[in-house]
Amino acid sequence: MRVWDTSHLLDTIPASKTASAEHVYDYTDSQANQNRIRQHFKQLQTRLILGLALGFLLPNALLSAYFHFQFAHTLKKSAKLNLIAVAESQRNTLDLYLQERVVNLYNLFHSKEFTLAPTQAHMDNALASLKHFNDGFVDVGFFDPKGKQIGYAGAYSALLGKDYSRESWYQNLLKESKSYLISDIYMGFRNIPHFTIATKQVFDGRTYVMRATLDPDKLYIYLRAISQGKEVESTLVNRQGQYQVVDPGRSQLPGRSDYLPPVTAASGVEEFDHNDQSMLVAYSWLKETPWALLAMQPVAVAQAGMIRARLVLTIGLIAVSLVVSIIIFFTIKKLVYRARRMAEKGQQLQEMLAHASKLASIGELAAGVAHEINNPLAIIMATSGVIRDMLNPEFDLDHSPEAICKELSTIDTAANRAKGITRKLQDMGKSRVPCAVECDVNALIDEVVNRLNKVEFKPKHIDIIRQLGPDLPLIMAEPEPLRQVFANILINAGDAIGDKGSITLSSEAREGMVLVTIADTGKGIPAENMQRIFNPFFTTKGGGKGTGLGLSIAASIVKYLGGTIKVNSIPGTGSSFTILLPINEQAKQAIKQHDKK
Ligand code: ADP
Repeated sequence: MRVWDTSHLLDTIPASKTASAEHVYDYTDSQANQNRIRQHFKQLQTRLILGLALGFLLPNALLSAYFHFQFAHTLKKSAKLNLIAVAESQRNTLDLYLQERVVNLYNLFHSKEFTLAPTQAHMDNALASLKHFNDGFVDVGFFDPKGKQIGYAGAYSALLGKDYSRESWYQNLLKESKSYLISDIYMGFRNIPHFTIATKQVFDGRTYVMRATLDPDKLYIYLRAISQGKEVESTLVNRQGQYQVVDPGRSQLPGRSDYLPPVTAASGVEEFDHNDQSMLVAYSWLKETPWALLAMQPVAVAQAGMIRARLVLTIGLIAVSLVVSIIIFFTIKKLVYRARRMAEKGQQLQEMLAHASKLASIGELAAGVAHEINNPLAIIMATSGVIRDMLNPEFDLDHSPEAICKELSTIDTAANRAKGITRKLQDMGKSRVPCAVECDVNALIDEVVNRLNKVEFKPKHIDIIRQLGPDLPLIMAEPEPLRQVFANILINAGDAIGDKGSITLSSEAREGMVLVTIADTGKGIPAENMQRIFNPFFTTKGGGKGTGLGLSIAASIVKYLGGTIKVNSIPGTGSSFTILLPINEQAKQAIKQHDKK
C-alpha cells in the first residue's frame, strides 16, 4: 500500500493570483525561517554556555574550594607542629642549662675542699669556680641548719649573716624530696630581680644549704640567643603566668603574661588574642622547675607561607579557569555560528528547491493550460472551416440546417470545454472573500452524496457505505468549497470503480482535527502516478473526460482551511483519500493567516 501526503505538495499549488504575490509569500516565510534558526541557535549557545558554567566552572570551583581548605588545614597544622617543635627544643636547651647550673653548685657542695665552716677564701673560690662555668652566677652563699647565711661571696656582702629561714625558696627546699631547688624570680633582701639555685646536704642529722643566685638578664640573653632566626618570640612563665625572664636593665620584677598555659605533661599549642593581634602560642613545661616555655608567633607570620601559597594557588586557578572558559566560550560561539550558517544554508537550499519546484509547476501549469485550451480551439477552428466549406456551393456539401446545427453543437461542446477549464482555473486562483461559517461535515457529505446519486452515480451500481461519526464537532469553513472537495474526490472514486463497487465514507474527530475518509474499491493508483495526482492537469482519464484539476483544486481548498489530504492506495484493490480539517479555532487561525497573505 502506498501512502501519499499532500501537505508538502500543496505548497506547489498557487494560493494567490499572481506569481509575484507567490514570491512575496515565499520571502516572508524565508525571513521567518531565518529568524527561527537564529533564535534556535541563540538558545543553543545560551544552553551550552550555561552548561559550561555548571559543568566546568562549578565543579572546578567546588574542587578548588575543597583542596584549598584541605591545604589550609594541613598548612595550619604543620605551622602549629613546627611551633611546638621550637618550644620543645628550647625547653630542652633551658632544662639542660639549668641542670648544668645545678651540677656546678652540687659539685662545689660535694667537693673535698668543702667544710661546714667555710672561710671567705673558700667562698670566693667557690664563686670563681661557678663563674668559670657560667657568667650568669651572681653570688654564692652557705647556710647553717637554722637558715643563717654563714658564708657568702658576691657583690652583696650585707647578706652575710642574714636569716633566710622564712624565705620561701629556703622553706621549699627543706620540704622538697629532691636535694635541689630552682626558685622563681624574686627581689629578695637585695631588692633586685634574681633567682636561686639551692642544694641541701645533711651532716650529722642537720641540713646545710648551699645556694647560688643567677642573673635573669643572662637567662634572657640566652633565650634570645637560642630563639634567633626562628621568627619566634620565646619567654618563660611560672604557673601563675608571671614572666621568668627580665629585660636587661630593668631592675624590677617582670609582669604577668595575658596567656596562662594549661598545666599538662605534654606540650601544646593554642591561639589567643594579644594586643588585638591573633597569636599562636606553643607551650612546653620545663622538667627542672615549674616554668613553661612559651614560643609565640603572630598567626599571620605562622601562616605566611600558607597565605602566600594560597594566593598563588587561587590566582593560578582563577587564571586557568578564565583561560579555559574563554577558549571554550569562543569555541562554542564559533561552533554554534558554523552550525547556524550550515542550517541557514540548508534552509536556503530547501527554499530554492521549493522555489524551483514551484517554477516547474507554473511551467507545467502553463503548458497544460495551453494544451487544454488549444484542443477545443483547434476543434472550433476546424469545425468553423467545415461549416464555411458546407456553405460554399463549389464543394456541394450538405448544408442543411440540421447538418450545420450538428457542426455548431461540436463547436459548442469544444467552447464549453474551454470555458470549463478557464472557470476551474479561475476557481483555483481567485482570491477568496472569507465567509467561513461553522459547518457540520457529516451534513455536507450527505448533501454531496445525494446530489451525486442523482446524476453521476445514477447509471452505476455503487454501494455507498456511510460510517459517519456521531457528534462530530463543527468546523470553520466555507461550505461550498468544502462540498467541492468531497465531490471531486467522490467523482474520482466513482470513475475508478467503473460500473460496480463500493465507496465507504467515514468521519471522526481526533487530536483537534476532523478526519473524513473516502475509500473506494476502484482500480487504485499506480506508484509512478502517486506524486503527480495533485498536479494541475494531470489526468489518466482519456476521451476528454478528465481535466486533471479536480484534486489540485481540492488540495488548494483544504490547504486554505488549514488542513491536509492523505492518500493510501493499493493498485488493483482501491484507494482511500483522508481529508484532515482543523476544528474551529485552528481553522479560524489558518483562514485568518491565509487571508492576510
Ligand atoms: P481528473 O479527475 O480530471 O483526472 P483529478 O485531479 O481529479 O483530475 O485526478 C487526477 C488523477 O488522479 C486522475 O486522473 C486519476 O488518475 C487519479 N485518481 C484520482 N482519484 C483516484 C481514485 N480514487 N482512484 C484511482 N485513481 C484516482
